[in-house]
Amino acid sequence: MNYSSSLEFAQQMDQKDPLKEYRKQFYIPQINGKDALYFTGNSLGLQPKSVKNAIDVELRDWANLGVEGHFYGTNPWFSYHEILTKNMAAVVGAKENEVVLMGSLSTNLHLLLVSFYQPKGKRVKIICEAKAFPSDQYILESHVSYHGLDPKEVIVEIAPRAGEELIREEDVLTKIEELNEELAVVMIGGVNYYTGQLFDMEKITKAAHQVGAKAGFDLAHAAGNINLKLHDWKVDFAAWCTYKYLNSGPGGVAGIYIREDHAKDKSLQRFAGWWGHNKEERFKMEKVFDPIPTAEGWQLSNAPVLLMASLKASLAIFAEAGMERIGVKRDLLTAYLEYLLDDISLRNEHVSFELITPKDKKYRGAQLSIAARGQGKVLFDEISKKGVVADWREPNVIRVAPTPLYNSFEDCFWLAKTLEESLEN
Ligand SMILES: *Cc1c(COP(=O)(O)O)cnc(C)c1O
Repeated sequence: MNYSSSLEFAQQMDQKDPLKEYRKQFYIPQINGKDALYFTGNSLGLQPKSVKNAIDVELRDWANLGVEGHFYGTNPWFSYHEILTKNMAAVVGAKENEVVLMGSLSTNLHLLLVSFYQPKGKRVKIICEAKAFPSDQYILESHVSYHGLDPKEVIVEIAPRAGEELIREEDVLTKIEELNEELAVVMIGGVNYYTGQLFDMEKITKAAHQVGAKAGFDLAHAAGNINLKLHDWKVDFAAWCTYKYLNSGPGGVAGIYIREDHAKDKSLQRFAGWWGHNKEERFKMEKVFDPIPTAEGWQLSNAPVLLMASLKASLAIFAEAGMERIGVKRDLLTAYLEYLLDDISLRNEHVSFELITPKDKKYRGAQLSIAARGQGKVLFDEISKKGVVADWREPNVIRVAPTPLYNSFEDCFWLAKTLEESLEN
């Protein structure tokens, strides 16, 4: 694709965009009386206009039916989570029996590690990425200590090489081989939240399996962004939140994936709750946990219906637009923004926007992390005043995510324009 830095070009691209109508299905925040240039769909996705009605239905049933809503509501609350499974599984490339919506991301990672990190004998080590999202670091450390082991010895972090920003895939694969039978589990972020680097999850999973270890991924920045094929890649387990690319709203309900054969394995250790118990027998309230032989067997509690209602509305949009088309637009839009940023660097000798995100679309999603050397926070504050909603990370990175469902090519054009004008000041 030959890009051009003119406004006309951006407008033509929007005209030709098969997903252009979807923007109208979202509320765009207003700044200075205009649509914000909203580039933080990787942090909190925008609100679909259909969310309000989806929640209203449940509020009405609650008002009119009280407890009877569990069985006689428009969408009976007893099985509310089941309504979401099909669309959610499609987004992450899983079978329906491998996915359930429940709890929150950090809680779910803990629950999954109970099942998939069971250190025994020599096999105690965990591979993760250096500078993982803080919650993920605390989660891993606390599991290791819980098992009476020393996090410093057991957790093996893969860092970028000296002078580099990205982790080399070969370094992950080599470390897996090297640890061999000492390795219990690899758990890394499918897309790194800071650099936007996407890992080849299929390759990493295969390498882990070759040494008898498990592979799991935190998909907070991948779900709804990347074209995932968790089942085909034979990933053991995964977890994600839904308020980033999946637009479910602040603190939305989260998702887990457990590969079918693990999900069917009733002997797999877990921390159990009544909602994971055999549905036919659940209300007999008897002793002895009999897990549902699907990902649902990891549920603890009954469905948080109001949170699920907003996700239901959002997933309906994903089902209609389809991850295939979303992925095509993601790559076009991201490459276009990259082109515009490179173009600014070319024309302005005194600045450089160094993009630390991989250039190859096989190794990134919708996010570009811009290291604004020598400009940094001042530049960020300036563009924020002018209507850009981006994200600042110390020491010098501005993260922007052109989100295919509601960002336009023209948004990218104005973002670049705003950045360039702010430089001149
Ligand atoms: C956003 C994010 C989280 C957030 O966890 P919550 O439990 O939803 O607060 C965790 N891990 C990663 C990698 C994230 O990007």
